[in-house]
Amino acid sequence: MSRFLHSRFSSLEAYTPGEQPRDRQYIKLNTNESPYPPSPSVLKALTEGDIADLRLYSDPEGTVLREKLAGLYGCLPENVFLSNGSDDILNFAFLAFGQEGAVFPSLTYSFYPVFCALHGVDFETVELKEDFTIDVEAMKGRGRLTVLANPNAPTGIALPLSQVEAIVASNPDHVVLIDEAYVDFGGESAAGLIEKYDNLLVVMTYSKSRSMAGARLGFCLAGRGIIQDLEKIKYSTNPYNVNRLTLKLGEAAVDSDAYFRRNAVEIMETRETVTAGLRRLGFTVPDSRANFVFIRREGLDGGKLYRSMKDRGILIRHFSDPRIADWNRVTIGSPAEMEAFLQAAEDILREEGLA
Ligand code: PMP
Repeated sequence: MSRFLHSRFSSLEAYTPGEQPRDRQYIKLNTNESPYPPSPSVLKALTEGDIADLRLYSDPEGTVLREKLAGLYGCLPENVFLSNGSDDILNFAFLAFGQEGAVFPSLTYSFYPVFCALHGVDFETVELKEDFTIDVEAMKGRGRLTVLANPNAPTGIALPLSQVEAIVASNPDHVVLIDEAYVDFGGESAAGLIEKYDNLLVVMTYSKSRSMAGARLGFCLAGRGIIQDLEKIKYSTNPYNVNRLTLKLGEAAVDSDAYFRRNAVEIMETRETVTAGLRRLGFTVPDSRANFVFIRREGLDGGKLYRSMKDRGILIRHFSDPRIADWNRVTIGSPAEMEAFLQAAEDILREEGLA
């Protein structure tokens, strides 16, 4: 830290992204990326002319992509906002709507408390139940910005839409943000409710099911008022927050919606195979509706499993939070990658005298 940093940030603890080591080739199951490439039309979308056009700024309104997304989700372009990854929207939302504080589950996306610390938003957390499910009653009517990842991370557990709607309806005077980063892997989207509730903000990303984490493209759907608020923040920070190439790739991706939905089905099938395999090996695995599973094995330290996997060239995600020290989050990769992972899990258990 230099002596120049605003004292407000001296104790800020930044978010730690999943590691991206370069020392060797890993089977990467630690950051919930897709094992599949973007769709064939995305692969062919960029021309030399597009690269030459980089001399020009991108369309700050992302007009074409917003129209396409509106068509896909059955709303109007004025209900769509684009961002540089969905983290960008989360950042804006905590800044814009957190004046009276925020509330989210005690175990969820670990970036939420960081945004709160960054923007001076006072936050409360709602304890998960013993089985890691969300205490819906306790999330209702909290009188502050309410944030819910559905499916939740890192557990992968989803709430049915009726319960999400009950939380939205219970809080009419505050924004309820539903973070649907993983919704395409078996969750139920709240996108269809944005006309009914002017306090609902549904955040989605191209990073997971659409195989475009590196393009950094997120979007959200909401009533016109909330979208205008987000635009105000965007035009006060970075008007060209989505670059030209990403806009073009994003347009091609909307046109190949069926391609990524097929991949999502593949990933869900692999997830079920992996879940069954892990349970056979004695792991506890909550039912996941995401492209990852959250796992724990009685008698095996979570950090130890992480390190043994890494030694074998497989990266999984272990969190520093002491409440989940026994657990690891494992992204669903290709069937071959997951076979290698299951084999490694069995070998590690044998080495530890647990199989
Ligand atoms: N929400 C959740 C729950 C996530 O796990 C992630 C991925 N780290 C994000 C949002 C942000 O993803 P991105 O910025 O790549 O859209």
